[in-house]
Amino acid sequence: MSVSVDLAGKAAIVTGASRGIGREIALALAEAGAAVLCAATNEALLAETVKAITDKGGKAQAVKADVALAADAEKLAAAALAAWGRIDILVNNAGITRDNLLLRMKEEEWDQVLAVNLKGCFNCTKAVVRPMMKQRAGKIINLSSVIGLTGNPGQANYAASKAGIIALTQSAAKEFGSRNLQINAIAPGFITTDMTAALGDDVKTKMLANIPLGRLGTPRDVANAVLFLASGMSDYVTGQVIVVDGGMVM
Ligand code: NAP
Repeated sequence: MSVSVDLAGKAAIVTGASRGIGREIALALAEAGAAVLCAATNEALLAETVKAITDKGGKAQAVKADVALAADAEKLAAAALAAWGRIDILVNNAGITRDNLLLRMKEEEWDQVLAVNLKGCFNCTKAVVRPMMKQRAGKIINLSSVIGLTGNPGQANYAASKAGIIALTQSAAKEFGSRNLQINAIAPGFITTDMTAALGDDVKTKMLANIPLGRLGTPRDVANAVLFLASGMSDYVTGQVIVVDGGMVM
């Protein structure tokens, strides 16, 4: 028996949909039938994501937005409501790294990462919860990281932002549970995207040695977890962190 995720009639917002994991999440949600509002700052790449969806008969729109700005987050919610009259799914995926050892980390490296990764998640969540509460249904999926569970030298800013996302997820899950909103996080391990492309082969080889499933992750591995959390299959799951890392940090 095969079970497929059916998101027909649902409207989703995916931040950071221009590349990498966010692009794959947008494609996966659209394949499952959802209309997808794709957000990021690079308009040319966003247009490519939208074209990849609409070429296959899916529904998508692009909106340029910097998630660190509350006004841009509001713009995303307004655009989804104007286009589809509802918001069922928000995927807070936009994220950046500005790695440096703590002693050398500049204030702006700390501030930028916290502003995009953590405040961006707060801004977009705040922008969608009112319409979701009115609908008495909604799914918010936040991209954390295994680094938010373990810490990592050279990534104090990134680790703090990703741990903060877990605390934000749990707090929001408690605040909005009575309104039937499910709010969960995904903590990916090592996924092959632009974000990890810069790492040297020696680092990748060392990582592989610690991954029981014996391979690096793909954006589709993460998108599959998003499909579960975006669908009715997860209606009794909230405030959780699903680790998608091939077994790396257990
Ligand atoms: P990526 O390839 O670098 O893509 C990042 C995405 O975020 C891009 O679409 C980028 O679009 C968008 N973005 C960056 N700043 C933004 C802003 N201010 N406003 C709106 N969008 C913004 O990264 P990825 O590897 O796909 O990672 C996606 C998420 O998964 C991130 O939250 C990351 O921390 C998390 N994650 C990744 C890994 C991994 O191994 N790759 C592991 C754990 C967690 P523009 O440049 O067009 O704005």
